[in-house]
Amino acid sequence: MVSYKELGLVNTREMFAKAIKGGYAIPAFNFNNMEQLQAIIKAAAETKSPVILQVSKGARNYANQTLLRYMAQGAVEYAKELGWEHPQICLHLDHGDSFELCKSCVDFGFSSVMIDASSLPYEENIALTKKVVEYAHQFDVTVEAELGVLAGVEDEVSSAVSHYTKPEEVVDFATRTGCDSLAISIGTSHGAYKFTPEQCTRDPKTGRLVPPPLAFDVLDAIMEQLPGFPIVLHGSSSVPQEYVDMINQYGGKLPDAVGIPEEQLRKAAKSAVCKINIDSDSRLAFTAAVRKVFAEKPGEFDPRKYCGPARDLMEELYKHKIINVLGSDGKA
Ligand SMILES: [Zn+2]
Repeated sequence: MVSYKELGLVNTREMFAKAIKGGYAIPAFNFNNMEQLQAIIKAAAETKSPVILQVSKGARNYANQTLLRYMAQGAVEYAKELGWEHPQICLHLDHGDSFELCKSCVDFGFSSVMIDASSLPYEENIALTKKVVEYAHQFDVTVEAELGVLAGVEDEVSSAVSHYTKPEEVVDFATRTGCDSLAISIGTSHGAYKFTPEQCTRDPKTGRLVPPPLAFDVLDAIMEQLPGFPIVLHGSSSVPQEYVDMINQYGGKLPDAVGIPEEQLRKAAKSAVCKINIDSDSRLAFTAAVRKVFAEKPGEFDPRKYCGPARDLMEELYKHKIINVLGSDGKA
């Protein structure tokens, strides 16, 4: 048993309370490798933004859970080295799908876990979430739960259709489970293809797809039911067209990839939405930078020469999100 406190990490309780009061959102960035982690920590340290490092079940399998934990501990020390005196870094399990997985993360030094039982019937979702909360809270680890179903594909999580969260269920759910934050479904979606062309309109000038707007009326109704309760948005990448264009220009094939417009996320960040998950955008930045090097310097075979530019582009992306979308800069 390792306590996250020994690793210098923090849970989400104080972060979220401050974010709701201050009208901004905490970035939750997924990581699987060293370059991604370096980019996240540099961006957070330089902008003094609290940050949530997210590990999915897939990342745990890819990178090894022991290594990931020491990487997170290393991230805290790296942040201090960069001049961030009291780093506000949370290590969070993204989409935990069983009590055993959540328990193992709590025991392994995570400061926050998500139990995603949203695909189960309502009463079963409550029972499983409650069980995780009761275990995690003994160690002051915070728990995110989910109500409603997001469309899209993310590691093991996938669904063809979305079901908006029902505002009439949220009070009962939050009260009976004791969860610390609630991921809701209001039209965000996992992956780089958040909407089919049929769901979108097309901008006549650029020919680009324009996605349907988020259901802010559902968000408003949820906030009315649960005033001041931390709300989480998953699947909130914007799929920047500059990266999609770079990927396509340098030999990739991502036709009609589309995400959530940043002005909608900016609006959400000012509300009780206090955690916004961004994963696909950094994957796109990484891939775009690597493809560019490969296309321009086909003789290059030193991974530092293409992972380095990928890291730089991700850092730029993370800073942009922190400063221009979430507004969490200067808050830690
Ligand atoms: Zn998610």
